[in-house]
Amino acid sequence: MSTKGSCACGEIAYQFSGEPTATALCHCVDCQKWTGSAFTSNAVVPRTSFQVTKGTPKTWDVVGASGKINKHFFCATCGSSLYTELEIMPTVTCVKAGGLDGGAASLGGKIGVEFYTKDRVSYLQGCEGAQQEKEFGG
Ligand SMILES: [Zn+2]
Ligand SMILES: [Zn+2]
Repeated sequence: MSTKGSCACGEIAYQFSGEPTATALCHCVDCQKWTGSAFTSNAVVPRTSFQVTKGTPKTWDVVGASGKINKHFFCATCGSSLYTELEIMPTVTCVKAGGLDGGAASLGGKIGVEFYTKDRVSYLQGCEGAQQEKEFGG
């Protein structure tokens, strides 16, 4: 079984096989700025199960709080935020779930963990049952 996703203009398409190893919301300021939204929703998948099937995303690097590189992949034409690869998590790809097709953006209705709750916008509450982390793993 594979889950497919794409950018808003359709120039980039990607897929991953199997189930995400984790589902996570991230409320950090970087995610807010990068997406123009309140948070990112992420399907965390093994890099070996992920592939871009159409087009070539552009990338942009940020040095995260860890001091390591967070690489952001996006569509150069429409600007859609597609996925990130973090130097501190070298075996996984964090797919931005809003780009997933066929209802997969809902992540099966279940969020495992929320990161950077200290930066969560004040009109949102934590997801029921999701582990709450003030920062990343802290
Ligand atoms: Zn696009
Ligand atoms: Zn974030």
